[in-house]
Amino acid sequence: MDVIKKVVIIGSGIAGLTAGMYCSRAELNPLIIEGNNPGGLLMLTSQIENYSGFPQGISGFDLVNKVREQAEMFGTQFDPGEVVAVNLKEHPFSLKVATFDGTKEIFTESLIIATGSSPRMLGLDQEKDLMGYGLSTCAVCDAAFYKGKQVVVVGGGDTAMEEAIYLTRFARQVFLVHRRDELRASKILALEAKENKKIHFVLNAKPTAILGNRDDGVTGIEVLLQRENKTRTIPCDGVFYAIGYTPNTKVFEGQLQLDGQKYIASNGVLTNKEGVFVAGDVMGYKYQQAIVAAGTGCMAALEVESFLRKL
Ligand code: NAP
Repeated sequence: MDVIKKVVIIGSGIAGLTAGMYCSRAELNPLIIEGNNPGGLLMLTSQIENYSGFPQGISGFDLVNKVREQAEMFGTQFDPGEVVAVNLKEHPFSLKVATFDGTKEIFTESLIIATGSSPRMLGLDQEKDLMGYGLSTCAVCDAAFYKGKQVVVVGGGDTAMEEAIYLTRFARQVFLVHRRDELRASKILALEAKENKKIHFVLNAKPTAILGNRDDGVTGIEVLLQRENKTRTIPCDGVFYAIGYTPNTKVFEGQLQLDGQKYIASNGVLTNKEGVFVAGDVMGYKYQQAIVAAGTGCMAALEVESFLRKL
């Protein structure tokens, strides 16, 4: 059998990187498998103003790169591959990793899953281009850039209501665009949003285009008013997608217990499988914040240390 690692970390967002830093300081020679989006969701965030220790704010890109540098400095190794299958039923655990020139198998005594979740996209042209240039998936991260401006939130669930309400602290007007008449959000949040005078509901409206370019940023959104079968353009400076998140847990189905929304079921950072730990956004939607991801990365690393000591 190939070399067995003491610990492998899947995911290179701030949760995985922090776990790597702690594991390497504990001399566990961790390997981080980076996945398809090295650096994770923070790489898409323009400015982070609520991460402790950065009173002037820091860009997501800079923050992630600083933590990566720290992890590398202590000896964390990186593999640019993507985990496409796992076998957690036997110990040591095995991971099938796809690389640019094929697949390989990696064995490990312990595992930290920090695969995050991905915001859903509408699939419109311009999305990729305008992400970070007026198009965002995180109001808490970006709302402060829209002081006195007009913004649009897309979605009809709890996240959309929360984001719209949060945005009213900064924006002059918030349009909430939802594809149906009926909101999916809980009654209490829907009511709070409806009672907020800055929020204007545009229901039965299907987004068809995001307008703008990288130089000018987002300038509007085009929606199809389905009842009238008419197109309406809403001029705005920012568009926030709040159409749900998909936890990146596909490869763990049948291997680990997942909750009803396919996040990894966990007790703190412990999963239902001894030796497998979890950190960051893949734990659930409630605390999806950079600082929490880093904190749980640290917790998972400490649990790995204690698991390996017992082993
Ligand atoms: P969600 O409940 O899945 O809602 C997603 C919304 O986006 C729905 O209104 C959906 O429309 C819309 N949508 C999805 N795909 C779309 C598309 N392609 N085009 C246009 N609209 C689309 O997601 P969420 O709001 O992120 O919430 C996820 C979970 O976290 C939920 O269980 C929620 O209760 C929970 N949560 C709770 C709180 C809280 O309690 N404070 C806060 C945030 C989230 P349809 O309604 O037509 O399907």
